[in-house]
Amino acid sequence: MNMHVEVAATGTVAAAIPAGGLDARAKRVAEIAARHADAVDREGRFPAEAVAALKAERLLGIQVPRALGGEGASMSEIAELCAILGRACSASAMVFAMHHIKLASLVTHGIDSPWHCGLMERVAGEQLLIASSTTEAGIGGDLRNSLCAVEADGDTFRLTKEASVISYGAQADLILATARRHPEAATSDQVLVALLADQITLERTSVWDTLGMRGTCSDGFVLKAEGLPLAQVLQKPFAEIAAQSMLAASHLLWGSVWFGIASYAVDRARAFVQGEARKKPGQVPPGALRLAEAANELQAMKSNVVAGLARYEAAKGDPDSLSAIGFSIMLNNVKITVSGQAVDIVQRALSVVGILGYKNGTPFSLGRQLRDVLSAPLMISNDRILSNTANLLLVQKGSGKLLSA
Ligand SMILES: Cc1cc2nc3c(=O)[nH]c(=O)nc-3n(C[C@H](O)[C@H](O)[C@H](O)COP(=O)(O)OP(=O)(O)OC[C@H]3O[C@@H](n4cnc5c(N)ncnc54)[C@H](O)[C@@H]3O)c2cc1C
Repeated sequence: MNMHVEVAATGTVAAAIPAGGLDARAKRVAEIAARHADAVDREGRFPAEAVAALKAERLLGIQVPRALGGEGASMSEIAELCAILGRACSASAMVFAMHHIKLASLVTHGIDSPWHCGLMERVAGEQLLIASSTTEAGIGGDLRNSLCAVEADGDTFRLTKEASVISYGAQADLILATARRHPEAATSDQVLVALLADQITLERTSVWDTLGMRGTCSDGFVLKAEGLPLAQVLQKPFAEIAAQSMLAASHLLWGSVWFGIASYAVDRARAFVQGEARKKPGQVPPGALRLAEAANELQAMKSNVVAGLARYEAAKGDPDSLSAIGFSIMLNNVKITVSGQAVDIVQRALSVVGILGYKNGTPFSLGRQLRDVLSAPLMISNDRILSNTANLLLVQKGSGKLLSA
């Protein structure tokens, strides 16, 4: 692999960055991911080859600030890479997205903490893979409540969490977990804790045998940590972390993965219709109308994601804008709309290609993409998000403007 060496802002020589721009590096990973995507799906196994390639291309550390050995990549740049990977292998793309969603919380809220700065240097230097543990037995997908609690003992703490879903928990180098701040805290008084794989035990309680997104290996675990330094707990309330980094990163990067899946499906449908047109020159194939509908919806989906990214980039660094009610409603709406559009687009594409899309192993197969994309409305249930928006709308003032918030 071609490499060039970059000098970090601190003056130290950073690790060699592979040749080409971020897109070129992601495309090389996508080639590998695509080659193994069917096997990953069939066997429900971790996309080890794609993740090894992500590490080789040093794409796991790009969001870390340059001063800490990363490349200071923006959310929009990362979103583009999620879409590139989403076209190749949904599971690999989702692993990459989830890693960067967690890293966004570290980058946004860990910069004042020497321990977390050291951790970010390790993420960039050693290409540590980060997983997320928010979902909990008894709480489900309610991100903003926890049952488990950080139990402090002097300068150290212990934590036991019944984590019912942790994607690639068994493969991650680091898990960021939500928990109550202390055993007497309210369920909504949460913190975010960084736990290195060699500091914890994970006892598997369920196996991720699912319809789609099988390669995310989102097994259930009892997670236990004991005697860890309290410095590993991010001091900012998780309520602020969720509002100012995690909500935006989740909805925008998930949306970008789903856009990648949907755009691949439309490309397959386009290739199919073009093939039909070549067989019967002078006639517009019947599937062309459905293809036009799918392309129309894909453009609307893209506009939603791109507008959300633009709003995020404009608000970035301003905690008041990021915490504003209108900003949360906008992000909730992006998630609900694009998750539905992605499913719809893949289904439309399937109806264009017909049985060749329904069958596995043809150049037009879309079964894996359809099964994978069906997770989009469930991944934090759209009903739960809608009910959150319903609460926010009770106090929001509308602007009615077209070009501003
Ligand atoms: C591919 C994939 C990867 C994932 N990876 C992770 C991970 O790495 N870490 C992690 O912590 N979690 C992960 N999750 C879990 C995810 O974050 C959510 O917790 C999960 O999708 C919620 O599942 P649930 O259907 O049990 O929803 P719940 O939120 O528990 O809801 C259950 C049901 O109740 C309904 N419901 C709940 N609340 C309301 C409400 N207020 N109004 C109306 N209806 C409501 C929902 O519609 C749903 O039908 C992953 C999920 C997927 C699909």
